[in-house]
Amino acid sequence: MKEIILIKLGEIVLKGLNRQSFEFALIRNLRRRLEPLGKFDIREAQSTIYVEPLEDGIDLEAAAERVGKVFGVIAFSRACMAEKNMDSILKTAADYLRDQLSTISSFKVESKRSDKHFPLKSPEISAAVGEYLLQQFPNLHVDVHNPDLEVRVEVRDFGAYIHGKALPGAGGIPVGTGGKAAILISGGIDSPVAAWQMARRGLELTAVHFASPPYTSERAEQKVVDLLQKVSEYAGRMFMFTVPFTRIQEEIRDKCPEEYFTLIMRRFMMRAAERIARKEGCSALITGESLGQVASQTLQAIVCTDAAAMMPVFRPLIGTDKSEIVAMARKIDTYDLSIQPYEDCCTVFTPKHPRTRPEMEKLLEAESALDSEALLEDCVNRTTFRKITAYR
Ligand code: ATP
Ligand code: MG
Repeated sequence: MKEIILIKLGEIVLKGLNRQSFEFALIRNLRRRLEPLGKFDIREAQSTIYVEPLEDGIDLEAAAERVGKVFGVIAFSRACMAEKNMDSILKTAADYLRDQLSTISSFKVESKRSDKHFPLKSPEISAAVGEYLLQQFPNLHVDVHNPDLEVRVEVRDFGAYIHGKALPGAGGIPVGTGGKAAILISGGIDSPVAAWQMARRGLELTAVHFASPPYTSERAEQKVVDLLQKVSEYAGRMFMFTVPFTRIQEEIRDKCPEEYFTLIMRRFMMRAAERIARKEGCSALITGESLGQVASQTLQAIVCTDAAAMMPVFRPLIGTDKSEIVAMARKIDTYDLSIQPYEDCCTVFTPKHPRTRPEMEKLLEAESALDSEALLEDCVNRTTFRKITAYR
């Protein structure tokens, strides 16, 4: 039995004239993700993408799991190819779905015939398949309203397909069709989720992480690498830039009032990230901030942080509760990594009483004690990078 994966496209089909470039991007992303598993033919026809293994022994289970994480895939199913005659369709349906059909009690058949030369019309195909399955599986009866299984048969130009269960895909639009943005990534729960959300809207990602050795450990940086690896199962490959932040943090600690420490530090993060983002061809920054979650995420604090960046800053989690963010982190499987206890540079030298209603003028005055340009230049120059790819 020859099995393939059929993919239903999501919002892409609404893209009018741009549709083709969206489809190309999706097919390219699928190719990249599946290539390590073996040779596949991936092509589009009649608003469906066909993923057909071209070698024996390909792990289709693993392929399906990867397909389910590619943005732009709204739903997908594994399907079995049959020859375009009723005899083959009936036998294939019974064989392919045998395990499921033997354990349930009701079913219905839905057929679609896009090849109008096929001698039977769709309702006739459904009736024939239904009758045959009733004969083969005495445990079954037909229930058109609430069946345990909907058996789907499609007769297309180049073959007939019996579908297995349709599964939801990751949704969104293909990565790379929306431009490029830099995610400020910590080892926390929020920023990996923010990265995932924006990649889901078609953005290609570059990651920027601030590390403060020896206050933060190598293990803390490795945690971020591991997190990004998870994100890249969805978002595709990316570069991670690690910015040495110790000097800046020590300068702020030594020269600025404690209550403004965190905000000044965050403004430096924005500026340094922006410089790297620009070099990498990004047009926006992304953070995992959520309004009111901590002192540096009050409205007034965000106004001050935002003012340090020239690029738009996307904060996809701004209106999201922590419990909802946690649920998303679990769904994309970053949560268990995020809760590993390693210091983040944000928690080094945290003030006892941070300002929740900072004043811009005082902040700027405090900042003027620093040689910002030299500090930024220095940390950006010492930035290192590595490549992150999914499925090591
Ligand atoms: P997260 O769970 O994403 O760390 P948080 O609730 O802990 O968020 P903060 O630590 O104040 O909040 O950070 C807010 C945002 O600033 C993060 O979501 C992230 O985008 C960015 N950020 C914080 N620390 C770092 C870091 N070390 N490197 C890069 N970006 C960071
Ligand atoms: Mg954090």
